[in-house]
Amino acid sequence: MPSDLRKVVLSENEMPRAWYNIAADLPTPPHPPLHPGTHQPAGPADLAPLFPEALIRQEVSTERYIEIPEELVHLYAVWRPTPLVRARTLEKALDTPARIYYKWEGCSPAGSHKPNTALAQVYYNVKEGVKRITTETGAGQWGSALAFAGSFFDVEIKVYMVRVSYDQKPYRRMMMQTWGATCIPSPSTQTASGRGILEKDPNSPGSLGIAISEAVEEAAGRDDTNYSLGSVLNHVLLHQTIIGQETLKQLEVFDDRADIVIGCHGGGSNFAGISFPFLAENFAKGAKYKVIAVEPFSCPTLTKGRFAYDFGDAVGHTPLMMMHTLGHDYIPPAIHAGGLRYHGAAPLVSLLVNHGSIEARAVHQIPSFDAAVQFARTEGHIPAPESSHAIRAAIDEALKCKESGESKAIVFNLSGHGHFDLTSYERYFAGDLVDYEHPESEIATSLSHLPVM
Ligand SMILES: *Cc1c(COP(=O)(O)O)cnc(C)c1O
Repeated sequence: MPSDLRKVVLSENEMPRAWYNIAADLPTPPHPPLHPGTHQPAGPADLAPLFPEALIRQEVSTERYIEIPEELVHLYAVWRPTPLVRARTLEKALDTPARIYYKWEGCSPAGSHKPNTALAQVYYNVKEGVKRITTETGAGQWGSALAFAGSFFDVEIKVYMVRVSYDQKPYRRMMMQTWGATCIPSPSTQTASGRGILEKDPNSPGSLGIAISEAVEEAAGRDDTNYSLGSVLNHVLLHQTIIGQETLKQLEVFDDRADIVIGCHGGGSNFAGISFPFLAENFAKGAKYKVIAVEPFSCPTLTKGRFAYDFGDAVGHTPLMMMHTLGHDYIPPAIHAGGLRYHGAAPLVSLLVNHGSIEARAVHQIPSFDAAVQFARTEGHIPAPESSHAIRAAIDEALKCKESGESKAIVFNLSGHGHFDLTSYERYFAGDLVDYEHPESEIATSLSHLPVM
């Protein structure tokens, strides 16, 4: 019998001391990244201008567990372990026999799961003497997470922020400034990539792909500067697995076991963070957790993208990765879940979708805001528009339980709060949001630009 507890908080000493590396347990071997020019497997030397050695080693590691440095554990302890909460009021409102749990990652200083990897990445850069890091940000969550981590370690952070978000979300920009980072709108005139885009379209709203091109170009061109990515790459997903490991321990205290594990999916990091430790049990112990990645209908990478080699950025500076992609020059409609507007997906998540180990699902933005508001009015927390996609799927699964009378345990990652996304809520209440159709023809066009292998 599951306990009556409302929430389980672990003590600092119970924090996981190692990250879980799913590369040790994959059903089929991963496809290597390829050099963008030669199309030969990209080795550590190709990544060295951008990343510190320690992170490159993690990127290609097949060791099952990688120890979390003690110094980092102490920094995580500022807000970790994060609570696992039973959404009892929501359950009651839905009149469902399901048990719904959410892992609350919005309590970090930057308000999302992203500091889990931001701190780790800055830590390893500092160990190798790096003084300056460039990055991109969509909705501003990653930029603010890296800015926060940079301030802990006294590293200079420069953030290229997607133009639409820069204009729509000034508070994220102010957070970055408060933590001492520089934030400029992308496309910018500071890089050849940005200038090229602006020549074609002076009013370009920008995209994550374009901002990545700019940040990578600057880091590759300067000896004192490295680059940092907030999602997609293996080492980023690795750092996030602290989330799922904590969740497994917390469910034990609840005396419960998950049936369904859900995360929203932009580049794959919070989804991997909650789900990979559960998948470890599926692979090694024959567990049968059903794992669902939820993405927006207007940027349906996992459900409608092609599993193919493509660039991680818009211009073609990054290694080619085997992943679900809508085409590197696809610019998704300006939905409010800015953090889910990415043309590609984590190669590890893509491989698992392709293999049938996990399920992918797309939801429209209005139903996901419906879910967010229902959640806010029952559980209190106002979710990030990205996280709302996971809530939508969790509620849908709970409603299925109501129909079938099954009492399943549903666990989802509440990846962040929406305190700086309230304009999106305002537009939702005003009836200004639209559910975009599948942009079939745009996707067909951008897919026709995939690199020829
Ligand atoms: C960035 C972000 C996401 C999407 O990125 P993933 O790498 O897919 O996790 C989801 N939720 C929140 C709150 C975010 O900030």
